[in-house]
Amino acid sequence: MTSATKTGLLERLEAGPVICAEGYLFECERRGYLQAGAFVPEVVLDHPEVVTELHREFVHAGSDVVEAFTYYGHREKMRIVGKEHLLEPLNRRALELAREVADETGALFAGDLSNTNVFTEDDESRRTVRAMFEEQTAWAAEAGVDFVIAETFSHAEEALIALDVIKQAGLPAVVTMALHREPVTRDGFTPAEACKRIEAAGADVVGLNCIRGPRTMLPHLEAIRSAVSCHVAALPVPYRTHDDQPTFQSLHDPEFDGLPFPTALAPFMCTRYDIGSFGETALGLGIRYLGVCCGAGPHHIRSLAEAVGRTPPASRYTADMSKHTYLGTDPSLLQANQEYAEKL
Ligand SMILES: [Zn+2]
Repeated sequence: MTSATKTGLLERLEAGPVICAEGYLFECERRGYLQAGAFVPEVVLDHPEVVTELHREFVHAGSDVVEAFTYYGHREKMRIVGKEHLLEPLNRRALELAREVADETGALFAGDLSNTNVFTEDDESRRTVRAMFEEQTAWAAEAGVDFVIAETFSHAEEALIALDVIKQAGLPAVVTMALHREPVTRDGFTPAEACKRIEAAGADVVGLNCIRGPRTMLPHLEAIRSAVSCHVAALPVPYRTHDDQPTFQSLHDPEFDGLPFPTALAPFMCTRYDIGSFGETALGLGIRYLGVCCGAGPHHIRSLAEAVGRTPPASRYTADMSKHTYLGTDPSLLQANQEYAEKL
């Protein structure tokens, strides 16, 4: 499918929900191809086949967007791992891998900018950050992205700089903030205020991604939905955060000596049903750009897609317990096993 015949992001959002699978860092880490800590997407160059396969799995599970894996593939992160010379090849390769899968599936092709971790609200950092966004956006534009995602910002101002760069490239922008334990951005705005400013500056979609699980993200999403008139994005992490520990970095496990983030979060993982119910609730609030961030697996994406009325290819394998040996109800099953079920 060529870009000329493909329906764009905004048209799709007008028609209904759009699913965007994220969480590439965590999933590649779990698969053994990316190091937790620095979290740099070197897998793009070292094992491109792993990234391609994950793009395909997410689309198979219901993602409408193939997002180039350039998250943390920026100059600062590349410098930290001593590979700044690979910045451009990594970005170009990540874009090429995403484009191939978008072309073969008809999914939208998105570029990605992220928090730089060097923004400090002074003029020098403003210039540094802008230059980082400019180089990545130029590569994304050259690769022919349908839109650019700018995500996981703790400072509203950093998000505004990313947005400005994307707008100057003439591309649609999805801009999402990340909310830590404090219910305000690091520059002191409520998420609703921050999103209102980002909308006013020209973003096509605004919202929240990462850091918070469904339960502790939803109240803020509701506030954002009432504060803006553009489409809203919601991409929580799939962990059972709660009022006392509202972020995945603040989760504590009495059975684990240390911080569960980022490699011992499994006991807090949302089930696919948690994510399905989140999708239903968010869509009910009028939020149409839906996804899951760090920790997401294809089973979460399928549940999210199904919860908003989709039947992705992976739905062919959605659970059907009626044919289970012990727990099933199918009359052709051996009755002795069904009678034994209560002893399982
Ligand atoms: Zn994330």
